[in-house]
Amino acid sequence: MRIKAPAKIDRKLTTTTIQTKQPRLSAEQVAKINKSLEGASAQKILEWALKELHPKIALASSFGLEDVTLIDMMVKINPKARIFSLETGRLHQETYDVMDEIKDRYNIQIEVFFPDASRVEKMVREKGMNLFYHSVENRKLCCGIRKVEPLNRALSQLDGWITGIRKDQTQNRTAARYVEIDTDHGNIIKVNPLLDWSLDQVWAYVRQNKVPYNILHDRGFPSIGCEPCTRAIQPGEDPRAGRWWWEQDNKECGLHVKGGH
Ligand code: SF4
Repeated sequence: MRIKAPAKIDRKLTTTTIQTKQPRLSAEQVAKINKSLEGASAQKILEWALKELHPKIALASSFGLEDVTLIDMMVKINPKARIFSLETGRLHQETYDVMDEIKDRYNIQIEVFFPDASRVEKMVREKGMNLFYHSVENRKLCCGIRKVEPLNRALSQLDGWITGIRKDQTQNRTAARYVEIDTDHGNIIKVNPLLDWSLDQVWAYVRQNKVPYNILHDRGFPSIGCEPCTRAIQPGEDPRAGRWWWEQDNKECGLHVKGGH
């Protein structure tokens, strides 16, 4: 594979101005809430989040196994619970299939955020359709335009968001808490109900509750992102080895990392 010299990223292409809000909860209140939620079920954590923040809170869903688990739980707690998704323009067909299946099964609307078309056009015109394979900088530029900017736009309308992150997914996530003040996104509240769950627990929930899931999980995909950038892994391989498989490390996309990419 051809590796190009790092290109300078045009920050104006990838950023949305994030308005910093007064946090809905103080750091002390968040610490108390986390203490009170210690050992609570994911449903209890979601109940707290929806009671406290609905309709100004939504799940960020890429329709991976954890996300569909949370959708099932959320809709059972509140049929009007909000779910949003980032349509990068490069997703797998199987992801679109499960999105429609979930929409029909739960009779819900999914709030889909697209990237800014003029930013995508400029990037592709200058760097090509498959720019992400050529350098880490190009990959970050693509993720910035197709994911991070739309995420920031989605979150700018909310007071809180819910994610499917689990502690055992990467080392970066071990310090996460059930409830956090998300300083990267204007001090909104971030809620992580599945933090303590293992992958086996997630699978057990999906099977017991017959939750529709992305068929790519059955074909060796542990996490499912954009089609060109995710692949199946071999048994025993690191779960994130399937993401940006041509890079040696740096496997986060910028959606859950302090300070952006
Ligand atoms: S995962 Fe790949 S295609 Fe998707 S936004 Fe990032 S670099 Fe672009």
